[in-house]
Amino acid sequence: MSARYTGLGVSPGRVLGPVARVHGPQLPAHDAAPVDVEAETDHAEGALGEVADELESLAERAGVSGAVLVRQARMSRDPSLLALVHQFLRAGRAAPRAAWEAFGAYRDMRASDPLRPAPDAAELDDVRDRVVARLLGEPPPSIPDPGTPYVLVARDLSPALTATLDADRVLALVTEKGGPTSHTAVLAKALGIPAVVGAPGVASLATGQRVAVDGTAGTVTADPDAETVEAFRRGNAASVASTADIGPGRTRDGRQVQLMAAVGGKGDVEEAVAAGAEGVGVFRTEFLFLDRDVPPSIAEQASAYREVFDAFAGRSVTTRTLDIGADKPASFVRLGDQPNPALGVRGLRVARRYPQLLTDQLQAIARAARESKADVRVMAPMVATRAEAAWFAARAREAGLRQVGVMVEVPAAALRAGDLLQVVDFVSVGANDLAQYAFATDRADGELADLLDPWQPAFLDLVATVLRAGAVAGQSVTVCGEAASDPMLAPVLVGLGASGLSMTARMIPIVRAALARVTSEQCGQMAAAALDADGPEEARNRVEQLL
Ligand code: PEP
Ligand code: MG
Repeated sequence: MSARYTGLGVSPGRVLGPVARVHGPQLPAHDAAPVDVEAETDHAEGALGEVADELESLAERAGVSGAVLVRQARMSRDPSLLALVHQFLRAGRAAPRAAWEAFGAYRDMRASDPLRPAPDAAELDDVRDRVVARLLGEPPPSIPDPGTPYVLVARDLSPALTATLDADRVLALVTEKGGPTSHTAVLAKALGIPAVVGAPGVASLATGQRVAVDGTAGTVTADPDAETVEAFRRGNAASVASTADIGPGRTRDGRQVQLMAAVGGKGDVEEAVAAGAEGVGVFRTEFLFLDRDVPPSIAEQASAYREVFDAFAGRSVTTRTLDIGADKPASFVRLGDQPNPALGVRGLRVARRYPQLLTDQLQAIARAARESKADVRVMAPMVATRAEAAWFAARAREAGLRQVGVMVEVPAAALRAGDLLQVVDFVSVGANDLAQYAFATDRADGELADLLDPWQPAFLDLVATVLRAGAVAGQSVTVCGEAASDPMLAPVLVGLGASGLSMTARMIPIVRAALARVTSEQCGQMAAAALDADGPEEARNRVEQLL
């Protein structure tokens, strides 16, 4: 019988193919024989430095994931990590074992460090594997190349690994860890390939083993039977035909749904325009600020923003002000002693300490907006109350910006969206963070990924509350975050009242095709069915049946 693994489908599509596995080093054995501490210290220090160099050179070629690679290089150069390595060397471990144990201790130390956000587990494990492999004289963890297209299977995928991925060869991504907003999920959508994450047991699949990956249902079937193979082939033929449509987003009966791209800088613009994006739903401006010791000047910011605005002349570009803190640290602001950074000073809250940072950014956005023909809107991240929304709106209007909104990422803001809409022109649901805060679940924690599933009825309730408030106020409410790019969830969001959806550009044609197949009334039925379900699985099943 075929073994079936269930996880979260984070990028839709169905493929069949052979497995290729990512290999990393195993925990090196501890040998009781005495070690030459001086020689092992040189060896370990050399490996840490070489890995940092390697990550920095990957960063130069990596585009959007460059900031992550720089962050990883910094881990490798962190003096507190080196001090831990010395400690284990002095305790009689050989360099590979000392490094392995030191990384474990470093992770614990950083987790309880109130001054710095804890590093991402996949990023840290990747640095460890590189250092240990080097010390063992093994090749670094790498993407295998079996010479034919394959399904990439790993415990977790780090940006460093995927920077070397040959996108033409990989059919799908499957990981044991990771959640809906993990690096794997974001990458798969960007590449337009199916992905399943958080699927326990998949790391035991063997290289060469044939699997059927369903990135919509979130399943991986090993050695699929003839019936599954045939069903996959039929399904694929149908979906290829339907994604060829172009033009603005609308349901079969003509209800308009603006399909917009999420953009993180000028590098994303070309693809967004090619995908027929009707505008930018969230322009993440952090790219200019991360990994810098001083913030960029107003002039530098304005010219970088214009590069994006100019590509969307005549269309709307919703620009989000700086969202640093928690999972997006920046070295030029000192956020200090925060026991839980995700609940601390992040997003708009950073402006309480550094008001000039926001004032300058609003000036830069306003300047770029004046000089371009795009319809520029501005919104703030991490707003919890009407007072915060009003404070932001006053500053944005003072800077000369006309269309001002806020993101709804905190449940308090969702529950009182009507109040927020009295002081701003629009709101946009930030589905990634709204799920994180609604379910008290760290969005970077793969182990708890099922709680972040956007099909959770309680999450949909919150989104419905915001959309209802928009309808009552007669104001626009869009949805951004990974949830909006799920082609089966998109009709549900439209049924709940969304007037626009923002997503990774590659997903726009797929979501467009999904909406073109259903009427506005069917969207309403699907929304009601999903809200009425007991859990995410039942919600999906009900909507699938209606489709
Ligand atoms: C979100 O939270 O849904 C969002 C769009 O913002 P980010 O993912 O950048 O936090
Ligand atoms: Mg967010």
